[in-house]
Amino acid sequence: MLDVINSSVIDVITFEGHSFYLKRDDLLHPEFSGNKARKFHYFLKNNFPNITKIVSYGSAQSNAMYSLSVLAKMRGWEFEYYVDHIATYLLDNPHGNYAKAIKNGMLIKEEEFSVEKLGSNVLFIEEGGRQKEAEYGIRVLAKEIIDWQKENNIKELNIFLPSGTGTTALFLQKALFDMNYSQYTHVYTNPCVGDGTYLKKQFFELEYDEKYHPIIVTLDKKHHFAKLYRENYKIWLKLQQQTGVVFDLLYDPLGWRTLLGNPEIMDKPILYIHQGGVLGNESMLPRYERKYKKEELENENIL
Ligand SMILES: *Cc1c(COP(=O)(O)O)cnc(C)c1O
Repeated sequence: MLDVINSSVIDVITFEGHSFYLKRDDLLHPEFSGNKARKFHYFLKNNFPNITKIVSYGSAQSNAMYSLSVLAKMRGWEFEYYVDHIATYLLDNPHGNYAKAIKNGMLIKEEEFSVEKLGSNVLFIEEGGRQKEAEYGIRVLAKEIIDWQKENNIKELNIFLPSGTGTTALFLQKALFDMNYSQYTHVYTNPCVGDGTYLKKQFFELEYDEKYHPIIVTLDKKHHFAKLYRENYKIWLKLQQQTGVVFDLLYDPLGWRTLLGNPEIMDKPILYIHQGGVLGNESMLPRYERKYKKEELENENIL
């Protein structure tokens, strides 16, 4: 009844002279945020007769937070969310994921909490949905990709997606392995939060057997999550101009920069996974527009 996640389409786009397949997980569901629909699919599919509340934690603008508010609303559960800090600006001017989650009934708390004290009626979700149950929905994603490969006779394929916690990339590679598709189909990913070492550690926490791990690729430069980078804004504008697709501003710019910066990945057909998150642009875009004027970038002949 609540299984409202259908499969997503695959488009063909051209960017910077290269052709890419694009898995439109951003269009999976109008309310969920892309890959969070995959990660929380399990909680829509199964019955939880004793659960009355979701508890989670993380940042006050996260895509996972917003998607959990949707899940809670759909299931008629309460949703309690813990943050270290809420910026005064956000409290005074609610917008983006924060505003939408509040509208869905989220109770946000700026305080510490203890997992041990949670009752048996509580469904506890790790930050960013980094947990075992995410495997269910990501297997569905893997199956869709394999079916599409079969239909279109695409034997060799490199899949690329940017990582936060690395949960999506890891379970995708694992599912392909389990479905006997890992010989010709490889998952490549780049860290957006932390560096390659951090991402590898995240993989190990979910899966100790390295044969299931995706291939980590990086750029040489250090990158801080949610910080503003001129290069990120430029490639985001370029992507929109050349492909007509709106990408998210937190993960995709670094993802595309890393992909283009490691051209050996493009020796095979590439499937880029658009993991949604566009709602979060509501908070990122004004920050970029204040910092860099679009016209200035245009004058540099970048667009
Ligand atoms: C959450 C998210 C990611 C990162 O997913 P992980 O499974 O944590 O690696 C990437 N892109 C978007 C748009 C997201 O919302």
